[in-house]
Amino acid sequence: MIYLDNNATTAIDPEVREAMMPWLVENYGNPSAGYRFGKIARKAIEAAREQVADLIDAQPEEIVFTSCGTESNNTAIQSAIGLRPESKTLLCSDVEHSAVLEVMQHFDSRGYDHRLNPVDSSGDLDLDAWKDNVAAEGVAIASLIWANNETGVISPVERAAELTAECGVFFHTDAVQAVGKIQVSVRDLPIHALSMSAHKIYGPKGVGALFLSRDVRFQPLLWGGGQESERRSGTENVAGIVGFGKAAELAKSRLDEGESIAAKRDTFEEGLISEIPDIEINGNPKRRLPNTSNLYFPGVDGEGLLILLDEAGVCCSPGSACSTGAVQPSRIVKAMGHPSARARSSVRFSISRNTTMDEIREGIAAVRTAVGKLRVTMPSGGRVVINS
Ligand code: PLP
Repeated sequence: MIYLDNNATTAIDPEVREAMMPWLVENYGNPSAGYRFGKIARKAIEAAREQVADLIDAQPEEIVFTSCGTESNNTAIQSAIGLRPESKTLLCSDVEHSAVLEVMQHFDSRGYDHRLNPVDSSGDLDLDAWKDNVAAEGVAIASLIWANNETGVISPVERAAELTAECGVFFHTDAVQAVGKIQVSVRDLPIHALSMSAHKIYGPKGVGALFLSRDVRFQPLLWGGGQESERRSGTENVAGIVGFGKAAELAKSRLDEGESIAAKRDTFEEGLISEIPDIEINGNPKRRLPNTSNLYFPGVDGEGLLILLDEAGVCCSPGSACSTGAVQPSRIVKAMGHPSARARSSVRFSISRNTTMDEIREGIAAVRTAVGKLRVTMPSGGRVVINS
């Protein structure tokens, strides 16, 4: 298998797995218990909180552990809404992950209005529009994805946060794809909330975190036992949290690997572009995550390409797939102003620190073969782009 879908999830790092094992097996005490067997679990959680905080230059008390990035996003948005009942506009960019977009859409039926800030054909945020949008009356929250999961395009989060703060609006960023891949720091920035997820950074699935700036008011999503300093009830996933802490520590120490990962990604892209006619990159190639390559194959059905690649042992992603696995034309590529045909013919490849040069070479060969087969079966030979 050649795994080129690391924005979907990553393999657990062996050091992370090792750190987790004692908390899955012998140290099963409840961290809220008053005896020593519980207190050692509490201590492990607090150590992980420091590691996760350190990754984004936050204070440990600003980190709330959750069950995933999706929960972190839901918590931030619903807290902002709950605390500002008079504000009925919810703002995000047109290229958010569904874990932000669908939460905001859900509130439309309750009298809210969600507004989508445009991006240009490279996926770059229209900052002038953002400035106007945050200045409008009654904005409860402005949320901006730090790096896009499909194209890897990095948003101007620092500037957007400043513009948002100038208008006194709550600013949240979904940094699930950015954290651990590029430098993400909340230091000296008016970021009120930031979402993270362990399984995107070689940590376990089922654990996330929400950074909540000390200065902000907050309303929990989950109520009950009062864990996480009354901010997220529910018995903690101790092993998962310990694994997240270790993954965060490793990510921080390995941030400079971005360059070598980008070099492999570029070799992959250049190989494909030189061997297959007409390929184009989706998203600003100068402002994107080092591991992500989203490519448009004119005249090639993206779903067909994925099927052939799967048969060849290559894992990659369509623009977007729903939970049933059905492939939809990429909403993100369409939001960038491209026609549906391009959105249907685009595929995301995302590599990791574990991807080898052999896999890059074999990946290129597999894609070339699959595209060749698909283009031969098309009457046009796949060279005509239909703008629909
Ligand atoms: N936000 C972004 C940008 C993502 O890419 C993902 C996962 O793909 C999520 C949120 C959701 O994270 P999780 O899978 O931890 O719920």
